Amino acid sequence: LTAHEAKASHAGGVARVKHIIAVASAKGGVGKSTVAVNLACAFASLGMKTGLLDLDVYGPSAPTLLGTGARKPAMLEGKILEPLEAHGLKTMSIGYLVEASSAMIWRGAMATSAVRQMIDEVAWGDLDVLLLDLPPGTGDVQLTLLQRVPLAGAVIVSTPQEMALADVRRGLAMFEKTHAPILGIVENMAYFETPDGTRTHIFGEGGARRTAGQAGVPFLGEIPIDVALRESCDAGTPLTAAKPKHPVSRRFREIAEAA
Ligand code: ADP
Repeated sequence: LTAHEAKASHAGGVARVKHIIAVASAKGGVGKSTVAVNLACAFASLGMKTGLLDLDVYGPSAPTLLGTGARKPAMLEGKILEPLEAHGLKTMSIGYLVEASSAMIWRGAMATSAVRQMIDEVAWGDLDVLLLDLPPGTGDVQLTLLQRVPLAGAVIVSTPQEMALADVRRGLAMFEKTHAPILGIVENMAYFETPDGTRTHIFGEGGARRTAGQAGVPFLGEIPIDVALRESCDAGTPLTAAKPKHPVSRRFREIAEAA
């Protein structure tokens, strides 16, 4: 490396990231983080240099989902943090910097400043895609972000349920207000399939597809309720990275290609 290149590789910020994509949900517990992590691994498996920034300051989940729990990012020159490498991703989370339990009680201003630090003071370097795992809802953190980061677009995660979908419509309105393009909606927990191929639509059928149609935004695909997906999350090895041939991993790659 020339001195100039070495300095550039230690610079913080997202200036050399080609596409920043927010993964959002109007409600918690719909599988937003699960989708964000597996989508990130899907992008990486398609040969893109990919990062995952867990911005859920109130409940960071990347340390668990990526199995990076106890690791701490290194501090580079000028107080710039080096992202961790895991499963072919560059990753950063507030969960690496403070105890998850103390992040929970943060006030808006602190959360906002943590978000700023994780964007501007992390050596993201050259990336094709950086996925942002946003906190659920439409609060301060989301707004700070949308004002600060040039988003290529947002992917919205929802379950098929009518209640979740009413919130999705509000989420769509927030992104429209800030002129961030909606790349589309992913329907998570779309159905459960038994080994004989019978599908049960536990949370209703096709709701997210209908909402996407009504709102005039793309429908990116369905992810079923799947035991292997849940187990891989708990084990810290994303299914899409660990078992690329699994049918659910294939779904994530299709969604990455559609987005
Ligand atoms: P959120 O980020 O929206 O709060 P999470 O990604 O943390 O949601 O998911 C909530 C829980 O549901 C986790 O235990 C996760 O493993 C599980 N989960 C999410 N999506 C699926 C799925 N498609 N099949 C099985 N379990 C899932």
